[in-house]
Amino acid sequence: MKRPDTFLEPEDAGAIVMSTVRQCDTETVDLTACCGRALAETLPARTEQPRFRKGAVDGYALAEDPGDQPFDVIGSIAAGDRRDPAQPAALKPGTAVRIMTGAVVPPDIALIIRFEFTETVPPAEQVRIVHTDSSSNIAERGENIRLDEPLLTPRRVTPADVGILASQGYARVPVFRRPSVAVFSTGTELVAPDSETLEPWAIHDSNSYQIAALAEEIGANVVNYGILPDDQQQITDAVKAAIDTHDVVVCSGGVSMGDMDFLPTALETLQAEIHFHGLAMKPGRPTLFATSGGTLIFGLPGNPVSTLVQFEMFIAPALAEMQGLTYTPRETSLPLAKPFSRGKTDRHEYLPGYVQDGKIERVTYQGSGHLSALAAAELIFRIDRGVTSVPAGGEVYARYIRPTD
Ligand code: AMP
Ligand code: MG
Repeated sequence: MKRPDTFLEPEDAGAIVMSTVRQCDTETVDLTACCGRALAETLPARTEQPRFRKGAVDGYALAEDPGDQPFDVIGSIAAGDRRDPAQPAALKPGTAVRIMTGAVVPPDIALIIRFEFTETVPPAEQVRIVHTDSSSNIAERGENIRLDEPLLTPRRVTPADVGILASQGYARVPVFRRPSVAVFSTGTELVAPDSETLEPWAIHDSNSYQIAALAEEIGANVVNYGILPDDQQQITDAVKAAIDTHDVVVCSGGVSMGDMDFLPTALETLQAEIHFHGLAMKPGRPTLFATSGGTLIFGLPGNPVSTLVQFEMFIAPALAEMQGLTYTPRETSLPLAKPFSRGKTDRHEYLPGYVQDGKIERVTYQGSGHLSALAAAELIFRIDRGVTSVPAGGEVYARYIRPTD
């Protein structure tokens, strides 16, 4: 087997992954299930809004502006009254009706004066305007939305969009299907977090849980198949079954050059097309990416910081694109608080840090096995290939990995 490539740039690797992505097909879901999903087609307006000439305030409806002349009140119209919107009020001069917000406004009503801008005039309980209102307080039919005009175009559905869809009588909504993701951890040393025993040589599987959580956060349907031992046949069989039933397969561990690294051979046996194996980045040098029959297969190195970094760089954008969304990494460029220097410069190095006073501080970090370092990290920052040192105040590329809360 070839050694993993160590020269492929992360950006080039990302472009390779994205060039293989195919959008999922679409499905129709309940209105209550569409928030956060990507709308699959432009939806037209189904009804005009307002559907009828509508009162915008509680007040007195008048056929003409009475100026400071008092008027008599002869009736009342409320929202929900069974009233034909074409039926005139036919008010005699000097009269008005009470009308409530949301009520049908008859065609011969010119304006509504809100109650609080009027006073009652004794002794005949007439009403007079005391403040003028700049608006007629009538919403004309169709002034917000016209029938058949585009209502929403394809994009991520927001809570406001859910309201818009409901207001237009959309109970079912066409969206892109969520990609289905199979997750495996490989390693004979691994046991599940709920295992009763933890032998002295064993460690808990954290990668499958971290990967599943990352994939779910971005909207994928995840099946976590848990742990596979370092066994060529078992790994080959499990990956084959997953390729047949999922859009994406993510394996962690066993992807490098060790005696127990069986994933590359499994993929060769299954005649998957290996697009890259190896990257000029740290962590993540042995990362592998393959496709088979439309399924994307990622082999991530077992070290758990690597899992997060590779997911953020390559898998998150692919999963978003598959469901009709665009992944927008929260990228920035910030100065380092303290000087940085290193010996080897053959790879782009991604390190955890946090921002203080507009500068990146490093968190204590022993390397890509040091998962708990991420608890204090807000971002990962990058020291580029070929760079030995960055002075205090020198700007570096960074990418947030934590919501700002
Ligand atoms: P590997 O890529 O299989 O050589 O594993 C590299 C390192 O990551 C080893 O120390 C493994 O024990 C560790 N590792 C592998 N898989 C996992 C996992 N699922 N969860 C936590 N650590 C892991
Ligand atoms: Mg291993």
